[in-house]
Amino acid sequence: MNKYSGLILVFYTTLLSASQITIVGCGYVGLTLAALLADAGHAITCVDIDAHKIAALRQQQLPIYEPGLYELLFNRDKKRDIHFTTAFDTIDDSDMHYICVPTPINEYGGCDCSYVRTACAAIINTRRNVDTPLMLVIKSTVVPGTVRMLQDEFKASSRNVHFVYNPEFMREGSALHDMRLRNPIVLGAESEYALCQVEQVLTTCLSAPTAVIKTNFETAELIKYSWNTFSALRIAYVNELACVCRSLGADVMSVVHGLALSEELLPTKQLKPGPGYGGSCLPKDTTAFAHMLTNLGFNTTIAHRAIESNYYHKQRVVSDIISMLETKSQTKLASDSNTVTLLGLAFKANTNDIRYSIALDIIPRLLAQGIRVKAYDPQAMPVMQLLHQDVEYCTSAYDAIIDTDCIVILTEWQEFKDLDLEILASWCRKKNIIDTRNLFNTHDLTKHGFRYLTMGTV
Ligand code: NAD
Repeated sequence: MNKYSGLILVFYTTLLSASQITIVGCGYVGLTLAALLADAGHAITCVDIDAHKIAALRQQQLPIYEPGLYELLFNRDKKRDIHFTTAFDTIDDSDMHYICVPTPINEYGGCDCSYVRTACAAIINTRRNVDTPLMLVIKSTVVPGTVRMLQDEFKASSRNVHFVYNPEFMREGSALHDMRLRNPIVLGAESEYALCQVEQVLTTCLSAPTAVIKTNFETAELIKYSWNTFSALRIAYVNELACVCRSLGADVMSVVHGLALSEELLPTKQLKPGPGYGGSCLPKDTTAFAHMLTNLGFNTTIAHRAIESNYYHKQRVVSDIISMLETKSQTKLASDSNTVTLLGLAFKANTNDIRYSIALDIIPRLLAQGIRVKAYDPQAMPVMQLLHQDVEYCTSAYDAIIDTDCIVILTEWQEFKDLDLEILASWCRKKNIIDTRNLFNTHDLTKHGFRYLTMGTV
């Protein structure tokens, strides 16, 4: 390659990656994104319904304060292609429209998506060329289900429009830093084409993103809400701990220091859903802690809620089993189709400890309903046998599933993960499976004809 072909390559790469982009909503998210995209060489039109804001921006006055934002938008030598307007019908047909409008709480306490809907309608109804694909990228935080609902609502008038959900994780006060350096790219869409287009544009202005997750609308929407709720949960927890420290004369900063070490044992990224916690420590210790908190006058703490939540999850496994056994035509259990196989009796894998295990909780409830219970666990059967003689203990997982009507995976033993689904499918009486540990992928379960319930996997 000579020096000219190198230059030509750079020229074409720049040309190909430069897009005409509209940012709808000139607030913290919209203006930060606009500045970064303009700095990356894209042509940006910012639209807002607030005429005062647009007038100020046209005069290079920034209506919000964010460190470094003014300099990036207006103050540098580098010329930026960025325009501000209130008129949707003057926007050139852009390749991409980012919706960054507010989503406040409505009068019922829910998410008010009306600003997002209005913005989508304004773009769709004023576009000139319906033959060119148009990306409608929603950055506003919306409750799961919203983007699909909008896509359905605009179906008739949105030919060639691709809806994409791209939640924003920046924090005010460090918006530029967060968006450029700390931001994961989460994209929810229905078409691979749309996912790639938006990812391509975003990667022009973000330095290596911390992660890229491409998924469906609902998962992307839920990632944003779970992120914020998890932050709220942790802040609420530390505030509660501070109150307890004040009552007990303990030092909250040392408690937080100690607490942070637990992240090494159970990093957030290794969290896995299951049938509710059990074992020798969590149930008794959370109960004792909540009891102490109640005595100190704190009645509705996160510890109390965690105990309630765990109780709910254990209950739910039994109701899931019952509804699996009931057929559509009959809502009562038939006596010839009520055999359940429990795979796993220990509260977790690699132990024979059954204290507060989910099996211990559900066995009496199933037996009380006249359900025949077969069970297998590589290590925990001898201890369970001492408590429940009325369960049929089997010599292997395969032995346990013969003629069963519902297989219930309760413990995440590797041995269960390695089970051959083809054998399970041909030896059981009804192909029902409840996988409370997500050992199997849903594609394999479907392939083998199972009716299944997993813990929230698709
Ligand atoms: P903001 O209130 O600062 O700005 C929103 C702008 O949208 C306003 O200027 C408003 O006039 C304009 N607007 C309203 N309706 C419009 C319409 N139909 N057409 C054009 N413009 C319109 O809001 P923000 O803080 O930038 O937040 C925007 C979204 O991003 C919200 O859903 C928010 O939850 C989410 N979010 C915010 C942050 C944050 O730190 N601020 C972080 C992540 C996500």
